[in-house]
Amino acid sequence: MKALCWKGKNKVQVERVDEPSILNPRDAIIRITRTAICGSDLHLYDGYIPTMEPGDVLGHEFMGEVVETGPELKKLKRGDRVVVPFTIACGQCYYCKHDLWSACDNTNPNAWMMEKLYGYSGSGLFGYSHLMGGYAGGQAQFARVPFAEVGCIPASWLRKIATSTLETL
Ligand SMILES: [Zn+2]
Ligand SMILES: [Zn+2]
Repeated sequence: MKALCWKGKNKVQVERVDEPSILNPRDAIIRITRTAICGSDLHLYDGYIPTMEPGDVLGHEFMGEVVETGPELKKLKRGDRVVVPFTIACGQCYYCKHDLWSACDNTNPNAWMMEKLYGYSGSGLFGYSHLMGGYAGGQAQFARVPFAEVGCIPASWLRKIATSTLETL
């Protein structure tokens, strides 16, 4: 597939990389239909955030269609259209149970690095350095979404929320 890769300070490039696959039973693979370039990407582009490696796939705001689901997913189905936020959250830890998704205790395998630098770690983040978990991002044709029933917001829910909000105006 094609993906936007970080190549070094002030250099990014679209390259051909391996497509993601299901690694854990609660993963989903999303075919990306829309993605965003964010101001936060500039902190990676200009080398402000450490632990980027050449070839890392950028992108932390994306939407698309579910094309593959891990065996433990119950609600999410192939063909579902979803929006995927920046934070990767397990849905089961203390922080997730209190709706503090960006503080999830279970999704940053490199939390020790964050703890050394900042004193504490947040959740893993898509496409945002190895400090934040080293997850491939969504400025690509496909992405793997861990804990996909927590991290994928069905587009149909968003439509319902938008409609009911408009009705109250
Ligand atoms: Zn952003
Ligand atoms: Zn959690």
